[in-house]
Amino acid sequence: MKTILVTGGTGYIGSHTVVELQTSGYDVIIADNLSNSSADVIDKIEQITGKRPIFIKVDLSDSEQAASIFDKYSIDGIINFAAFKAVGESCQKPIEYYRNNLQIALNMLENMKRKGIKYFVQSSSCTVYGEPDSNPINEQCPTKFAVSPYGNTKQMVEDMLHFITQSGEIKAIALRYFNPIGAHSTALIGELPNGVPNNLMPYITQTAAGIRKQLTVFGNDYPTPDGTCIRDYIHVVDLAKAHVVAMDRLFEGRNKKNFEYFNIGTGVGFSVLDIIKSFEKTTGVKLNYVFGQRREGDVVQIWADTSLAENELGWKANMSLDQMTLSAWRWQQQMQKS
Ligand code: UDP
Repeated sequence: MKTILVTGGTGYIGSHTVVELQTSGYDVIIADNLSNSSADVIDKIEQITGKRPIFIKVDLSDSEQAASIFDKYSIDGIINFAAFKAVGESCQKPIEYYRNNLQIALNMLENMKRKGIKYFVQSSSCTVYGEPDSNPINEQCPTKFAVSPYGNTKQMVEDMLHFITQSGEIKAIALRYFNPIGAHSTALIGELPNGVPNNLMPYITQTAAGIRKQLTVFGNDYPTPDGTCIRDYIHVVDLAKAHVVAMDRLFEGRNKKNFEYFNIGTGVGFSVLDIIKSFEKTTGVKLNYVFGQRREGDVVQIWADTSLAENELGWKANMSLDQMTLSAWRWQQQMQKS
């Protein structure tokens, strides 16, 4: 049985990944400071999988606290989710973002070297591509200068991995996520935004639930078929499974380079209005929305070429947009009940 340290494992994508790891036969240690998540998630993971992951509340940006985990536990691989992730906030607090996100990654890599741990999977983002010149975008497309410190930390960790893996002691895979939405089919875990959501899906579900008055669609004058921005939305459970296959690939030595990176999306672009229509259709709830100004920093349209992930990882997303929006709503309703 291999043991995976999942940093940020009580968070949205982290918790779904812990479920998939445990159901695939991995043992999991979660390290999280609970700054943007709740310890209740551990109970929910246990309810879903029948297995309780080890949980350590820790600030991984602190090198002593980080090192203590590696001294106490035997770890075979790491999946690194722990990071500050609010794009807007990162522009207000750039130093905090650089310090936290880079320091956590460095602390993990330093301890991996110290303990001879070889395998690392990094949570990255399609934000590394900036505004694509054409779609779908593949991994050969050059990355562009980031529009936010948050996006820049994702690029910088990828750049660090490129060099840190060159000696061959550490092998790494970065997964460039497109737009994860939805929740687990049990509605026991899902996205728990702190305060007013920045992202579209939780804003929609909170508006439908009456927590927010109205959704503002940021811009309907873009050069797209219906004038709203286009993204590649992916079900969080499909995304979680990509982490398991990436880890399997490293353990089985199927990686072709010491550092690889893959797009993780569905390969299909949907507009903001497509999401609203799917939500209204699957839930039967009419959404109160208005068109507003464009949001600064938004790319017009981006969707993934997923052929590399399909061919190399043997992974493909298989959940539909309707499954995504309906599961997000079930999760919202479940949260209201509890
Ligand atoms: N969006 C919107 N209203 C909101 C939040 C988001 O119209 O309240 C739009 C946003 O402009 C973008 C899409 O929804 O076109 C996805 O935004 P999100 O913040 O979820 O993800 P991003 O792609 O920006 O990381």
